[in-house]
Amino acid sequence: MTNKRKISILGSTGSIGTQALEVIEKLQDKFEIIALAGGSNVELLKQQALKFKPKYICANKEIKIEGIKTLQGPDGLEEICSNKENDIILVAVSGKIGLKPTLKAIENGIDIALANKETLVMAGDIVMSAAKKAGVKIIPVDSEHCAIHQCIKDISQVEKLIITASGGPFLHKTIDDMKNATVAEALAHPRWNMGRKITVDSATLINKGLEIIEAHHLFNMPYDKIDVVIHPQSIVHSAIEYADGSVIAQLGLPSMHIPIQYAITYPERYEGIKSKSFSFSEIARLDFEKPDYEKFPGVKMAYTAGTTGGSMPVCFNAANEEAVFAFLDNKIKLYDIYSIVEKMMSSHSTVINPTIDEIFAVDKEIRTKTQEYIKGRIYK
Ligand code: MG
Repeated sequence: MTNKRKISILGSTGSIGTQALEVIEKLQDKFEIIALAGGSNVELLKQQALKFKPKYICANKEIKIEGIKTLQGPDGLEEICSNKENDIILVAVSGKIGLKPTLKAIENGIDIALANKETLVMAGDIVMSAAKKAGVKIIPVDSEHCAIHQCIKDISQVEKLIITASGGPFLHKTIDDMKNATVAEALAHPRWNMGRKITVDSATLINKGLEIIEAHHLFNMPYDKIDVVIHPQSIVHSAIEYADGSVIAQLGLPSMHIPIQYAITYPERYEGIKSKSFSFSEIARLDFEKPDYEKFPGVKMAYTAGTTGGSMPVCFNAANEEAVFAFLDNKIKLYDIYSIVEKMMSSHSTVINPTIDEIFAVDKEIRTKTQEYIKGRIYK
């Protein structure tokens, strides 16, 4: 990169966004920031704006900073994604709010570093075909997909994707322990420091389910060729198997800085935020085991949602998210998340090839239904 790469970050005040700015700070001569968009943490967004001096900022509320144009809300996100000055946009907002801006950026031929799950889980077919048509790269930020992206040379020769999972805090606990888990226990992830919603998803392994659906879209791989293996140390971030049985894996210490840096500097690699050199002898051992699908039924539900296709993954995602919020609010038990998701999926009439509007309509409908079901109303 001789010229600075022009980047915008949607979700700059979140966990991925703040780490991305730490990467950019280390690689100041490589990047120019066009826009930073944050949510309700206006104070942090202001500090970021004063430090990194983007051309625009975007927040939920009005902010005034001299010399910086300010935008607001979802329209602001789409305006950022319409600015063709951007070489790449890091989509690190959480939730469905990431979908429309991502499509807007694709429309404008801007590459995407994708850290937003809902974009592919809800609308993978639409997003990937739009990206293909526009010749836009979708570079995954999630550590597992980033690992697979790093391993693949020629997708047509790949036989299988192997996604690793740490197993979360309940890996070696009983089903009963899991059933009686408190919010604090579910949030005590042994390896990764992440937001609350994704941490609960890691405890139920539903996060792995969402990642399977994302991997299917990102790498155009059928579901029966995507495997999950439990790997508690989180050193092997995922692997691929070729037709001849050779397996290529990507290894590294568990740090989100590395996949974020890889995604926004791809195809270049820099030292950047590297903390220390990898040592096999210090790590000494790597363990792998089969996932217990009886204890973690959410993974199978994700396979069902994915293979059913259409609007079913939208239903899976919306029901899960509402159930997770209810769990975090102490309204339901951790294990109820599974039965709630299953109930919503079994009663959902799948919309085939849904449009973006239909996707949002299903999302809304399922959220309302899930909330009502949780409130104990009679379910029809
Ligand atoms: Mg992950």
